[in-house]
Amino acid sequence: MSDATDAVDTPTPRRNPKPEAKTIGGREMKPSTLMMGHGYDPALSEGSLKAPIFLTSTFAFENSAAGKRHFEGITGKRPGGAEGLVYSRFNGPNQEILEDRLSIWDGAEDALSFSSGMTAITVMMLAYCNAGDVIVHSGPLYAATEGFVAKVMSKYGVTYVDFPAGATREEIDAILTKAKAQAAEQGGKVAMVYLESPANPTNALVDVEAVRDSRDAILDADETPITIDNTFLGPLWSRPLDHGADVVIYSLTKYVGGHSDLVAGSIAGAKKWMDPVRALRNTMGGIADPNTAWMLLRSLETVELRMQRAGENAEKVCAFLRDHPKVEKVGYLGFIEDERQKDIFNRLYSGAGSTFSLFVKGGEAEAFRFLDSMKIAKLAVSLGGTETLASLPAAMTHLSVPDERKAQLGITDNLVRISIGIEDPDDLIADFDQALAQV
Ligand SMILES: *Cc1c(COP(=O)(O)O)cnc(C)c1O
Repeated sequence: MSDATDAVDTPTPRRNPKPEAKTIGGREMKPSTLMMGHGYDPALSEGSLKAPIFLTSTFAFENSAAGKRHFEGITGKRPGGAEGLVYSRFNGPNQEILEDRLSIWDGAEDALSFSSGMTAITVMMLAYCNAGDVIVHSGPLYAATEGFVAKVMSKYGVTYVDFPAGATREEIDAILTKAKAQAAEQGGKVAMVYLESPANPTNALVDVEAVRDSRDAILDADETPITIDNTFLGPLWSRPLDHGADVVIYSLTKYVGGHSDLVAGSIAGAKKWMDPVRALRNTMGGIADPNTAWMLLRSLETVELRMQRAGENAEKVCAFLRDHPKVEKVGYLGFIEDERQKDIFNRLYSGAGSTFSLFVKGGEAEAFRFLDSMKIAKLAVSLGGTETLASLPAAMTHLSVPDERKAQLGITDNLVRISIGIEDPDDLIADFDQALAQV
């Protein structure tokens, strides 16, 4: 029922967020400062210091003209693209703040968040590739990524060519030349160069600058982006966009999320490379949910602190393990001996990370005894959390890899994979010491 006495509140006009400063006193603010507030204005959310979690599937238009204007933008009838929020499969406030903040770490123009690292990778590949195209990739890759390229993309007529992570400029030139010929034969293009560095569990580093020079010499840079999975050393110790990569990819599940309590992924790069992926994400879904995006905003405030501490801890633990009588070898990026790999490390990385391979003297039985004796470290796959984790790839994550391939990759029965957390370093050393005594 309604009558003339109905009170009409004056609606609060929609406000624009206050303009943001990214410099202070002529200096550019560092990511660790910007993580506390960038992209969020408390005045738009009742003064709430932290962004609320926006649990909604849809967003109300101010009036019909605004609704029409929005759809003109997304359908291309009006240049400039979509404006604002309309439906939660496309975007949401928490995800937009997250994407703005993720871009900052890698110096990217734009970023997209996803419900997992694999969703980010697979939606991106589907967006960039057409039937007849070729993907060039470094190897080994995260097993699910390698499987997706070989078993799923092949169903749609996309083939691949791979090269070992440590390849030289000459070797990369040869591979790109081969891929270009293969693409021409199939009536397609080289759709993307896909890298992962350091490779897991070999820790081999890819020379991103050499890949860029090779791509620029042999292929068309506007047609073939260089994409790189930066999960292991980014965003703190590795900034691939500064060294010639076009798109940087994360499993945010690892160091960025950092508390082993969420699964998410992202990609970042120039808008030109994000747009087709955003369009496909709009169609397929796969954007991170608002709660996960909010947790990642929480995580990003401490990512530098956590990674620094984990990196320092790993350095101390590895120094202890290096000369231990029960240890055969420590595969840690701080101990690279190969001159070429050392050169790549010095040019492209600012830290050795906290994930490494520990070769216990003996075989599976000795490795099992070591793992089962650990008291602080938890026995689990994954990495990059606040807690130290340990696993045995040959018996767990890489169990189904054929023996010949395992041998090629150096995945032996005594290779223990360790991800160091942010515990007290001396407690960790004491734990490794007592567990090694049981071997
Ligand atoms: C974990 C991981 C992925 C997959 O990420 P999810 O978030 O588990 O989907 C991809 N690449 C690397 C290097 C990883 O460690």
